[in-house]
Amino acid sequence: MGKEMDWGTLLRESAANIRQLSLYYPVEKDVAKLTRKYPMRINPYYLSLIKEREDAIWKQSMPDIRELEDEEGVPDPLHEDEDSPVAGLVHRYPDRVLLLVSNRCAMYCRFCTRKRGVGDPFKRIKKEQALKGIEYIREHEEIRDVLISGGDPLLLKDEELAFFLERLREIKHIEVLRIGTRVPCSLPQRITDGLVSLLRRYHPLYINAHFNHPGEFTEESRRACSRIADAGIPLGDQTVLLKGVNDSVDVMNAMIRGLWSMRVTPYYIYQADLTKGTKHFRTDVDEGIEIFKSLKFHPSLPMPHFVIDAPGGGGKIPITPECRFYDDVNGNDIKALNLESLEYNTLKSGLEDARGKVAEIIVIELGEIEDKEDKGVYELLKQYHPIYINMHLNHPDELTDDVKRVSSMLSDAGVPLGNRINLIEGVNNDPKVIKELVLGLLKLRVKPYYLHADREKDGLAIVNSLRGFTTGMAVPHLVVGDRIICPNYIVEKTSEKIVLRNYQGRTFEYPI
Ligand code: SF4
Repeated sequence: MGKEMDWGTLLRESAANIRQLSLYYPVEKDVAKLTRKYPMRINPYYLSLIKEREDAIWKQSMPDIRELEDEEGVPDPLHEDEDSPVAGLVHRYPDRVLLLVSNRCAMYCRFCTRKRGVGDPFKRIKKEQALKGIEYIREHEEIRDVLISGGDPLLLKDEELAFFLERLREIKHIEVLRIGTRVPCSLPQRITDGLVSLLRRYHPLYINAHFNHPGEFTEESRRACSRIADAGIPLGDQTVLLKGVNDSVDVMNAMIRGLWSMRVTPYYIYQADLTKGTKHFRTDVDEGIEIFKSLKFHPSLPMPHFVIDAPGGGGKIPITPECRFYDDVNGNDIKALNLESLEYNTLKSGLEDARGKVAEIIVIELGEIEDKEDKGVYELLKQYHPIYINMHLNHPDELTDDVKRVSSMLSDAGVPLGNRINLIEGVNNDPKVIKELVLGLLKLRVKPYYLHADREKDGLAIVNSLRGFTTGMAVPHLVVGDRIICPNYIVEKTSEKIVLRNYQGRTFEYPI
């Protein structure tokens, strides 16, 4: 049902009111009252993913009368409106802003943090408003990273999106652009060849998708993610822990494994926000921590941060528990190759051997990056997707023109690039050096996955210093020996609340 339609038709054919929804399922009377307050839209594609009532897809999309019974939540739990110097632009961290360009989405997720505004025809974001936001960005030279969000920015027409991207790219101090979108999951037909060839003009540009359940991994969503990755656009994913949807170890392990196989970096797992109307989705913090501890992470592949977006606008605060890598994660399914360089023949035999042993995902741990590498290398790599490359760059001085050229060609070949940093005394054991390195990597479309340190104290000092001053994407996970460690930002924990410290040292409470 609906999978063959183009994205415009799918949107037009959406169930956006009770009468339309009742064509598919019997609907209770009270639901009409509910959708007047919190709009509904379920497009035929997403609707087709429902296998039975109350399954994970159903719960994310179907209006539920409990949305009106939530006495605890607040409309704007992250104080986005307070942190908006101009309407539709949130300036919370020193060097980054969130720019809202649309309040429409391909579906209205029942757990949405911006329930207060998405889908409301009276709260449409006009072009003039977004342009005021861009003007603010132009006047603030400290801003180097813009996350374009909404609603869903990819619901804009190609030319509307290009209009905003063009203006943002004209601003000299903007280095990185990111787009937050649920479209690869909820309306993958929107990811057309035309869209990706438009987006690739604005590198470095990242896309953060939002999958919440393996039932959302379909032929269509895989194709959409492949198109994005093939255009050299690094893809990340944020997943919200949702009660009855994905709050289990098996589901979350399948999520991470599925994301890797689509060349999507699991980036954040969120504790659900305290948004009014979403209480029935909230999981217990300790439960989330226990789930996270049991997830299977691979030492050469990206792993997510588990975070609480602090109520009151404190920003994202990691609560990632200490954990370990699973060396045998998925058995032979993931094959890591150690290569000194990308010499064509060695690479070819390594890849043939790995695929011959049925590895689905191949990761190359790459020693050296040389520009003399054979251009056929990039064509070869394209035949072996999903394939990842991990670089081992330790100092910003290593970001030479050769490294820039090669990493750009690797990204354009659709290879997600990661980096492992070794913390070395006298070389890079200095927050300023690592900050320059991770920001430099980000501009090259390389994500710093891990920071390996001999001493926990040194590593913690570095990771702490990065918090709040770069996107979470640029903050590597600290590895000491076989432990993955996150600095402790939990000040106090009782049976009723958890008190967290943000990067500015301010404390925020989240009820347990
Ligand atoms: S797509 Fe994102 S912004 Fe839109 S309703 Fe879903 S969670 Fe909210």
